[in-house]
Amino acid sequence: MSAIEKPIYRLVLHSQDAHYAPESSETIQTLLQDLGFIGQACVKPDNRLNEDVQQQAFLVGEQFLQLLTFMGCSPAINLVPTDDDDRDFCHIVLSSIYTHAQFRSHEREVFARCPECGRRDPHWQTQIEDWQADNLRTNYTCSYCDKNLSLYDLRWRQAAGFGRFFIDVFSIFPQEGIPTDKLLSALETVSAQPWTYFFTNR
Ligand SMILES: [Zn+2]
Repeated sequence: MSAIEKPIYRLVLHSQDAHYAPESSETIQTLLQDLGFIGQACVKPDNRLNEDVQQQAFLVGEQFLQLLTFMGCSPAINLVPTDDDDRDFCHIVLSSIYTHAQFRSHEREVFARCPECGRRDPHWQTQIEDWQADNLRTNYTCSYCDKNLSLYDLRWRQAAGFGRFFIDVFSIFPQEGIPTDKLLSALETVSAQPWTYFFTNR
């Protein structure tokens, strides 16, 4: 099996506000370069973010390991590709800016929880499909506690998120590396928006 066919785990950063997008991805690119989070541009190593022709890929920068907090004593991270076909190494991909909010989630074991009562919604996939079909209408009523919410308020335990712009950090397993406050607050400062993150394999 070639490397390109297998799912690659990644950490995804995005603004908490699903509708926010930076004026241009260069704003974020410049910030991440100044921080040393990203280094040189590299050939777009992944096309799995579908239709996303404008996405840009970068090798890790000099401060990359300082801007994430790694759990465990010796994380096995590849910072460079082992060969030309290797896609499972740490690199950073900036998405294009989507016109509408997108929902992204891990392939399996994703649970949506009501922020009020904490119960799981077993029908969240239908809710997402309705949201996509109905002009991103976000009205959501918890079937357990009847609380009226926005779909964007659901809790995903860092396995899903909404956004119009994403920063994918490849080859990071769920909870293996989390963004430092320094990285999150730099993103917040440049965009006047708080940022958050999730882990996915697609
Ligand atoms: Zn509830």
